[in-house]
Amino acid sequence: MKRKFSVEDFRSQFPILEKPLKNGKRLVFFDNLATTQKPQRVIDKIADFYGNYNANVHRGMYEFSERATREYEATRTKLANYFGVDNAKEIVFVRGATEAINLVAHSYGRKFLSAGDEVLVGAAEHHANYLPWQVLEREIGIRRKIIPLGGNFRLDFEKYKSLFSERTKFVAIQHVGNVLGGTNDIKVLAKIAHDAGAKILVDGACALAMHRVNLRELDCDFFACSGHKGFAPTGSGFLFGKYELLEKMPPYHVGGNIVNSVHFEGTSFKLPPDRFEAGTPDIAAVIGLGEAVSFLETIDWELARAHMANLSARMYDGLRSIPSAKIYGDSMDRNGIFSFNVDGVHAHDAATYLGNSGIAVRAGTHCAQPLMQILGVPGTVRISMGLYNTSEEIDATVAALGVCKKVFFAK
Ligand SMILES: *Cc1c(COP(=O)(O)O)cnc(C)c1O
Repeated sequence: MKRKFSVEDFRSQFPILEKPLKNGKRLVFFDNLATTQKPQRVIDKIADFYGNYNANVHRGMYEFSERATREYEATRTKLANYFGVDNAKEIVFVRGATEAINLVAHSYGRKFLSAGDEVLVGAAEHHANYLPWQVLEREIGIRRKIIPLGGNFRLDFEKYKSLFSERTKFVAIQHVGNVLGGTNDIKVLAKIAHDAGAKILVDGACALAMHRVNLRELDCDFFACSGHKGFAPTGSGFLFGKYELLEKMPPYHVGGNIVNSVHFEGTSFKLPPDRFEAGTPDIAAVIGLGEAVSFLETIDWELARAHMANLSARMYDGLRSIPSAKIYGDSMDRNGIFSFNVDGVHAHDAATYLGNSGIAVRAGTHCAQPLMQILGVPGTVRISMGLYNTSEEIDATVAALGVCKKVFFAK
């Protein structure tokens, strides 16, 4: 099943990487945390669904609907196996990490948290894992406590521990940071939370394409994941939740497919995961997610991680060789993620300049405005690499950035 990892072989599975741009060059794609490219097999799988057996799931008594339902539910089992989840009913399909976190905040949060209860939220969170807790603070009076960053902008275990009180009921924290790239040690954070009697939700939006994630090992209560940042289609994602919690949670959306019976007097809801999947899901995206997980299973993670570590080291040295560039955070645990600025050049200008050279990066606050306040900048340029990136692409980018300042000051 596993393929021996080589960047050439890995790249060859992504047709878009060979498409020439208007300038005749190939795209250098360094915006993987916005969304990754998709391998041919995922693209084929989606076309196969629409072309050969398109039908709604869970309803039809005919061949196509039965097949669609089988593929849809098989994805759930495949995800459970891949992520080390014992019970596939603990996997709820949603559109992405944003929806997964909102589901937990509004279903679990509104039922089990009350005024004065404390929720610990990371200082470097994406707005998707920040705003839902801010809404609960306004609406039901929970108290948010921010987990401060320690040296090198990394989470400080001692400070984290010292935040817990009798009122601490919940922790919301990211797995991999989408701005600075560090990996939080979820196992340790979860143990501390559980010892204090709190539940922990992990924003795993970034993790899929970078780590062989095992949820049994992490032992978090909820894990929110975006499929599209891990080679799956947009519109695919999942929430993992421990069954004993999901079971007690009310639906977040209500509508078709989630009820046993609806009467004028009241309604009895199905058990998880159906209870949380009201309405017609993005069936093609879910089936595509299943194929992306099959693709992830072919990755030799040891070699893949070594490749990413080499790329990261090369990018780090390259960026540091540019006197006008400032990188935020100097830890080498970065999962191919670099936030930086070029002195005197606005982040958007630097990104536009790279974009015009066929290099796709992102500029701005990366949906993490509180972190930008900590860094003391209005925004950064972000490079987020994928396993298909090469040393040559890094060298070309560093060379372009090296003259970026001159280009702007010559204007
Ligand atoms: C992208 C991202 C999200 C949101 O994911 P969606 O797929 O847009 O729902 C949340 N958290 C982090 C850390 C992210 O990078």
